[in-house]
Amino acid sequence: MTVGRIDAPARLAILGGGQLGRFFVRAAQELGYAVWVLDPDPEAPAGRIAERHLCGAYDDEALLAELAAHCAAATTEFENVPATSLARLAQSMPVRPGATALAVCQDRIEEKSFLARHSLPHAPFFAVRTAEDLERAPESLFPGILKTARFGYDGKGQAAVADRQEAQAAFARFGRDCVLEARLALEAELSVVLARGADGRIAAFAPGLNVHRNGILDTTFAPAPLPATVLREAGEIAAALAEALEYVGTLGVEFFYADGRLYVNEMAPRPHNSGHHTLDAHRVCQFEQQVRALCGLPLAVPEAHSPAVMVNLLGEAWFVGETLREPPWHEILSLPGLRLHLYGKREARRGRKMGHFTVTAATLTEALAVASEARQRLG
Ligand code: ADP
Ligand code: MG
Repeated sequence: MTVGRIDAPARLAILGGGQLGRFFVRAAQELGYAVWVLDPDPEAPAGRIAERHLCGAYDDEALLAELAAHCAAATTEFENVPATSLARLAQSMPVRPGATALAVCQDRIEEKSFLARHSLPHAPFFAVRTAEDLERAPESLFPGILKTARFGYDGKGQAAVADRQEAQAAFARFGRDCVLEARLALEAELSVVLARGADGRIAAFAPGLNVHRNGILDTTFAPAPLPATVLREAGEIAAALAEALEYVGTLGVEFFYADGRLYVNEMAPRPHNSGHHTLDAHRVCQFEQQVRALCGLPLAVPEAHSPAVMVNLLGEAWFVGETLREPPWHEILSLPGLRLHLYGKREARRGRKMGHFTVTAATLTEALAVASEARQRLG
C-alpha cells in the first residue's frame, strides 16, 4: 500500500503497553498525536497515559476492529504480538514495523536463519525441533546455550548446556522448539539502535556498551568505549540488517564482541532498553524516531549532546529483606546530571523492570562516578 504522511492530530495505535509503549505515547503526544493502546493488562503503564486503553488480548478481533476504525497508523512495543494481528491492521492502515519483520524477530530459528541467509555474522547455531535433531547437532556447539525459539526475554527460556546430555534434559524441560548456540567467550556486548524511515533513510544512534546481570540488562555506557573500527562495523551491520528486513521504525540490534569479532545476537523490532539514554543524552530519542518513522516524517539527526550511563532499576531495589518500600529517590535526585524515569508499575517484583536512571556528564568517567554514587545511595 502506498502511504503518505500522517499528520497530527491523527490517532496512532500501539500494540503493547509496557514502558516502551509509555515512552512512545509521550513522544507521540509531544508531536500532537493521540494514542490508543492495546494491552491485556489493566494496569499497563502506557494505557494509563494514553487517550484510550483497549484492555484485551492482542488477537481480540473486536478490539482490532476498533483500532482499525479509529486509528491512522499502528506500531508495536513488543515482539510477541501475533504477526496476524499486525497483518489484520495492515489491511486498513500503515503498520510499522510490518508483520514480516516481526515474524523474523519473534522466532530465534527464523532470526538466525535470516542472518545466515544474508551473510550477517552470528554465533554458530542449530535448530532443534525434536530430540532427534539434537542428536544430529554438531559437537562443536558444546558447551552451548539452548534457547527456546519463541517468548524468551531477559535470559528466560535459556539453559547453559555443557554437553548433548544436558541439552537433551533442557530440551525436554522446555518442551518446545529451540536453538542450540555455541557459547562464545564474550569480551563485550554492544547494541545499535537505529531508525529507518519509509523512504529507506537510516539514522543510527552511536552503539552502547551493555553490561548484563543475571541475563538482564543492568547498565549501558554510551558511546561504547570500544575501538572506533568496531563501532563503525556494528553500525554498518545493523544498517545492512535493517535494509534486508525492509524495516520501518526503530530497531534494536544486539551484538556480541568475541575473539576480536562482532556477531549479531538478536534483533528487537522496537525501541530497545539500551537506547533509553537517548531520552536524556541525545537531541532526539529513540521513541520520537519511532513516531517519525511511523508517520512518514523526516527522521531527526541522532546526535548525542553528552556521554551517558544508564542504569536499570529492577524490583529488587524496592525490597529491604522481605519488606517492600519505595526506594529513597530524594537521595539520588540531587546528584548532578542524574535523571530518573519510573514507569508507574504498581507492583514491584524481583527481576521486573520498574524504571531506570541516566547520568549525563562531560565524560563517561564522570557519568560513571555519579551513577556509582547513586547505586550506593539506593543501597
Ligand atoms: P534475551 O532475549 O533474554 O535477551 P539473549 O539471547 O540476548 O536473550 O541472551 C541473554 C544474555 O545471555 C546475552 O545478553 C548474553 O549475556 C548471554 N548469552 C546469550 N547467548 C550467548 C552466547 N551464545 N554466548 C555467550 N553468552 C550468551
Ligand atoms: Mg538479548
